[in-house]
Amino acid sequence: LSVSQYLRQHIRTVPDWPAPGVQFRDITPLLQDPRVFRVLIDAFVHRYMAPELRPDVVAGLDARGFIVGAVVAYELNVGFVPIRKKGKLPFTTVEETYELEYGSATVELHTDAVRPGQRVLLIDDLIATGGTMMAGKRLLEKQGAVVTEGAAIVDLPELGGSERLRAAGLNLFTLVDFE
Ligand code: 5GP
Repeated sequence: LSVSQYLRQHIRTVPDWPAPGVQFRDITPLLQDPRVFRVLIDAFVHRYMAPELRPDVVAGLDARGFIVGAVVAYELNVGFVPIRKKGKLPFTTVEETYELEYGSATVELHTDAVRPGQRVLLIDDLIATGGTMMAGKRLLEKQGAVVTEGAAIVDLPELGGSERLRAAGLNLFTLVDFE
């Protein structure tokens, strides 16, 4: 069994959530079993331990990107910075708004979270349309940081997000694909 196949077995698909017709890929079973959680984290840590891929800092996307991103940062012995949904960060922020299927969303980053030239690994749990990760990339770049790679547990390639992100120049690493 490959790591990808093993992890896939521990992702739960919830039909019609949060809306009819949506197949939600629930990653909570990956976190709940300590053996699976370790395989998941180690898959990222092994990749980003390599000197050429090791970031200066890990940025996690609200909210499941915090769970994975913080642990990966800790294991790499680098700092962690959160990119949060608007209205949650207390200090001065920069923000980026992006379009959703219905309406829009805004994410924020503290102005002192990254320094110009820092190499940042951007982590989330899943890439669907790619809008969230694209907004995170823009925020970090607005602050002069270099996003060396985007990483997620799951990619939904049919939604075209990973393709769009790669076309925008982002290197991407994902562990499990769902059609
Ligand atoms: P995107 O911006 O790429 O369209 O959507 C990805 C964002 O929405 C991620 O932050 C992710 O947490 C959340 N998301 C959308 N669909 C799913 C899903 O099926 N499962 C999980 N775990 N997250 C999802």
